[in-house]
Amino acid sequence: MKNRAQARWREKNPQAVWAHRALRSAVKLGIVKQQPCEVCGDPASEAHHPDYDRPAAVRWLCRRHHKAAHKKPKRARST
Ligand SMILES: [Zn+2]
Ligand SMILES: [Zn+2]
Repeated sequence: MKNRAQARWREKNPQAVWAHRALRSAVKLGIVKQQPCEVCGDPASEAHHPDYDRPAAVRWLCRRHHKAAHKKPKRARST
């Protein structure tokens, strides 16, 4: 189910897929360095693309803060 949704997402967002691939190779080649989460410093970070036209311009966020970044930041004051 989840894979299927992901496959559909890929079909709809070819540029995002490309950006992720480009970033992966950039990290591999040492062009881009993985950073800890910019919010909490968690080293298990994921790349967040604010702009898929610039695959190397990413923000590094842990899973939690990455999710938060994708949510609309409307009154994000839950804690
Ligand atoms: Zn974080
Ligand atoms: Zn993201």
